[in-house]
Amino acid sequence: MALLRLEIEGDIFQDQATLEKFSRDASSYKILPRLVIAPKSEDDICKIVKSAINDGLHITCRSGGSGLSGSAIGKDIILDFKRYFNRVLQIGEKTIVQPGTILDDFLHDMESYGLMLPVIPSSSASCALGGNIGTRSTGPGTARYGTIDEFVTSIRFVSSNGEVIDTDETLPSYLEEGIRRIRAKFLDDSASLEIIQNRPYIAGGYNLKALSRYLDPAQIVTHLLVGSVGTLGIITEIRLRLISRQTAKATFVAHFKNFDHLIEAADELKKLNPSALEFTDASCSKHVKGKLLNMSDSAHSGTLIVEFDNSQQQVDYGRELLKNYDLLKIWEIHAGDKNEAILRNERKQLLPSLWKFARENNLFMPSIIDDIAIHLKDFSKVHREISILMKHLGQDISFFGHLGFGSVHAHPYFNRMDSNLNQKIAIVSSGTFEILKKYKGTLVGAHNAGRSCSIYLKEELGKAFKYMEMIKTLFDPDNLLNPGTVFNTAPIYEQMMFSM
Ligand SMILES: Cc1cc2nc3c(=O)[nH]c(=O)nc-3n(C[C@H](O)[C@H](O)[C@H](O)COP(=O)(O)OP(=O)(O)OC[C@H]3O[C@@H](n4cnc5c(N)ncnc54)[C@H](O)[C@@H]3O)c2cc1C
Repeated sequence: MALLRLEIEGDIFQDQATLEKFSRDASSYKILPRLVIAPKSEDDICKIVKSAINDGLHITCRSGGSGLSGSAIGKDIILDFKRYFNRVLQIGEKTIVQPGTILDDFLHDMESYGLMLPVIPSSSASCALGGNIGTRSTGPGTARYGTIDEFVTSIRFVSSNGEVIDTDETLPSYLEEGIRRIRAKFLDDSASLEIIQNRPYIAGGYNLKALSRYLDPAQIVTHLLVGSVGTLGIITEIRLRLISRQTAKATFVAHFKNFDHLIEAADELKKLNPSALEFTDASCSKHVKGKLLNMSDSAHSGTLIVEFDNSQQQVDYGRELLKNYDLLKIWEIHAGDKNEAILRNERKQLLPSLWKFARENNLFMPSIIDDIAIHLKDFSKVHREISILMKHLGQDISFFGHLGFGSVHAHPYFNRMDSNLNQKIAIVSSGTFEILKKYKGTLVGAHNAGRSCSIYLKEELGKAFKYMEMIKTLFDPDNLLNPGTVFNTAPIYEQMMFSM
């Protein structure tokens, strides 16, 4: 392997312990790479790309490694950005950050400037900006502020032929012309346009909406890279537009007796433009440990969390609205209250609490239908139908998610010892896909396309899928970058680790 003789400033690892460490992300998959390389400069990355082409090896980028869809692991080279590409280069009107910067570190730096990024995934202690851009991450604030895509102004990246491209500068002519050509075709194809416009707000796959939203090819390239899970380019610098710091005025945590009432209330509360609108179902609330979100009363059906960062009037309307419902308990939490930090922590602990419950009960909880995106109006039906599917299979399931932007995290539990485990996983996945098809929903939402959900994208996007293929061919004709993710067709249980 010529790559091993490559002279770079960064580090090349081939020892078993490092390979093992990078064989997992936060998904249920495991793939042992051949090499892990921590580049120190763009020049390193260009050399690595050219050498990988010569050696016939593929490259998978990795920042925080907290991805849930199995898109930050791969069989050849893992590029680790966390080790050296982890600096905030500039904060202000234009904010520039390197991809391996841990999100919490970045948020901390921003505080003293009175600025904020209002879209913060619950994994902020472990995820990094490169992966946030790679997946087009969301956070509770997406309800009001959109996904991270809204805050990206330009990107610098290394292309699949080892060239540095900056969307703040002139694009190479092949890319500029290619984007113009694909855009013109797409805008002329009303059937595909309609498919894309009708998808739920956070639906993943390549960001085809960028083709109609922007005119400038450089802008289109920027926003296609957002959510491309490392399959279009290797991101080395991210430029962001931050907003001035807002604090939540009040948050309500309302434990409902009736789930339909919870949905009805969410629908009304959404009209008040809250900065977060989340829910947990009864099964999830039972497993979450803590003071505010935990609830194990048999009369409980679900919990609504609604946060307002706009006016006191909205808070008052929210309070009045919730008074109309038969609640088991309601908390009202104000900025600076002790409960504010407790709630923040409990919200971050939702998924880890479910993992803990599964581990303690020897259950397998793979992330296979954890990233549903649907239209809010269909949420009740989707929740009910998936619950019935699980009941038929004799499996338990917990739900939580973000009603504010149609994101549902559904977490089924399986018996590890089940001899039909593969089959059951496939049934839950395809059965959920069939349910979502009726409502124009998707299994590829906030965590974006990876090994656990990409197989459905082709059917889901129909005619519009060919634009994803055209874009991939334009950016990466030889499929150097992160194969097995966006265009993956392998059964979803392949390379899944049943023991955690
Ligand atoms: C407990 C928990 C809670 C979570 N909560 C949320 C949530 O609220 N919202 C949400 O959206 N997600 C959530 N996630 C999922 C995950 O944390 C996010 O998707 C996050 O944005 C991934 O960032 P990362 O740095 O860990 O990415 P990684 O896992 O390292 O990578 C993710 C993808 O980005 C690509 N990538 C990474 N770096 C680069 C680069 N330099 N160039 C090109 N591509 C790159 C990778 O190849 C991969 O495809 C959660 C995960 C966990 C474990």
